[in-house]
Amino acid sequence: MKKLMTTTTYLWTPPAVPSVAVRGRVERAPVNRLFFVGRNYHAHAAEMGRPVDKSVESPFYFTKSPSTLVESGATVPYPPRTANYHYEMELVVVIGKPGFRVAESQARELIHGYACGLDMTRRDLQLAARDKGRPWDTGKDIEYGSVLSEIVPMPGVVIERGAIELRVNGQVRQHSDVGKLIWSIPELIADLSGLYHLQPGDLIYTGTPEGVGAVQPGDHIEGSVAGVGEVSLTVGAPA
Ligand code: MN
Repeated sequence: MKKLMTTTTYLWTPPAVPSVAVRGRVERAPVNRLFFVGRNYHAHAAEMGRPVDKSVESPFYFTKSPSTLVESGATVPYPPRTANYHYEMELVVVIGKPGFRVAESQARELIHGYACGLDMTRRDLQLAARDKGRPWDTGKDIEYGSVLSEIVPMPGVVIERGAIELRVNGQVRQHSDVGKLIWSIPELIADLSGLYHLQPGDLIYTGTPEGVGAVQPGDHIEGSVAGVGEVSLTVGAPA
């Protein structure tokens, strides 16, 4: 009698499930998708030469592969094909419940918690792509380019203000307040859930304030959001 195959077999080892540590829990949070909001602080939009008029614009997004996730505290290689590798300090919303076409007034119900994140960017490639009307992928979807702190559970909590800061080798480079987000956290969840069926483990990097800049091999980055936590990264030798 022919033996039934009861387990799936693969040609090669499937990639590990991307996951991050959760404060106060032994279980890790599996990560589904990484969404990033573009230009969500006026002063950063201005420094990029693309000011935002909320009365006539909607938020826009890009994504990165979950495999780009790196835990806070890591040392990562300086990536290839760039001479302008930038930090962007961001507050990250962690989605904990599914939602589609969620009203702004209900958006908080999807929130599991928050984390501190770095949206690392090959700025030279991003701007070259932007100026030619091409996709941003090679500028943004960078191996080791999505840094995340531990997740801090705050179910249903909407963060409305709090200092956000980034230091390189101890010097302050970014300092703002998440109260200056152009699109608030409920507005982002409502809007993004109109484009995607949001799922537990989706992360929303909410955008960076002004002061973005380049790092070099050997630099140490530390970021924080008041009331959430801290994230750090050391940039190593080129890959
Ligand atoms: Mn960003």
